[in-house]
Amino acid sequence: MAKKETVYKGLFRLGVSRRDFMKFCSSMCATLALSSSFIPQIADAIEKKKKPYAVWLEFQSCTGDTESMLRASEPSIAEIVLDIISLEYHETIMAGSGYSAEKALHDVVVNQKGKYIAIVEGSIPTKDGGIYCVIDGKTAVDRVKEVCGNAAFTINVGSCACWGGVGSAKPNPTGAVGVPALISGKYVNLPGCPMNVENVTATIVHYLTFGTLPALDRENRPLFAHGKRVHDNCERRPHFDAGQFVRKWGDDGHRRGWCLYEMGCKGPMAYLNCPTIKWNEGTSYPIQAGHPCIACASNDSWDVFGPIYTRAPHVPGASYQSTADKIGIGAVAGTVAAVATHAAIRTLRGYKIKEKLSKEKAETD
Ligand code: SF4
Repeated sequence: MAKKETVYKGLFRLGVSRRDFMKFCSSMCATLALSSSFIPQIADAIEKKKKPYAVWLEFQSCTGDTESMLRASEPSIAEIVLDIISLEYHETIMAGSGYSAEKALHDVVVNQKGKYIAIVEGSIPTKDGGIYCVIDGKTAVDRVKEVCGNAAFTINVGSCACWGGVGSAKPNPTGAVGVPALISGKYVNLPGCPMNVENVTATIVHYLTFGTLPALDRENRPLFAHGKRVHDNCERRPHFDAGQFVRKWGDDGHRRGWCLYEMGCKGPMAYLNCPTIKWNEGTSYPIQAGHPCIACASNDSWDVFGPIYTRAPHVPGASYQSTADKIGIGAVAGTVAAVATHAAIRTLRGYKIKEKLSKEKAETD
């Protein structure tokens, strides 16, 4: 097991400058939706606390969450994530394999019982005795029960680990479920397809700073990341309110950055902080790039929210909102009224012209 050092010493050893470190602390403060007065407290905790042990388990997944962590760029969030925790086991990126890898996992589970963080990626197959995912002779079900059952808490990264994700979409051939279906201990859900590494880091930083998990919603998702709808902070929202919708890929509205609701956007039903933290160091996110939100962080999104490019039936929410339907009906009604008025004017004009002509004819006769 690696020798324990403080987080800051580890970052310093990796060449992370004081400036980058403070930048990181302030970005974590912003992600956690805390006042900037907490920056010194976060910096103090990261500087002085010993790194908590962590193990990362991967089951039925595309490795998207691991990729999401490793693909982060400068200042390397991946380095910081990997250095604020003492990651002892991760099948995809660890150098060890076979017996030595399994020993590393076993040592943490036994020697750090109740103190380490379990991070899980991927869904867990339960059908046919769980035989569809077996590692070191143990089914994924047994590994989750053992590793998560002995952890201080579990972080489920990505929608598959949270509630089965795409693997559990009908007909769900492997009987895939998320971690919460199998454990009774403390856990945090960080769904998304994949999860956003900034939310994972912020959750761990909150734990290091305050010794507790952040406030969670009813689906055990941190409120700092899932407290608001994508729709609430979407830069295309003024177009939604104005009834300006993209109707066809590449049409004029699409080129002008209008609302993607008619193209299937599920942003009004999706709770995630994509519009504020974005991806790739805050560069962009799907809606900004012109693609509708697919509600990837919502429970059962594949079966409940329907086909990706099919328009959701209505927009739930406060009364100040106008639904696209109402806006549409309003627009159609306006058009019909305009057409009808135009027709009436034309008819009247026609009638008057006819009347004038017949008068002139009568005078001539
Ligand atoms: Fe943005 Fe989608 Fe809401 Fe339109 S429907 S404002 S694109 S979140």
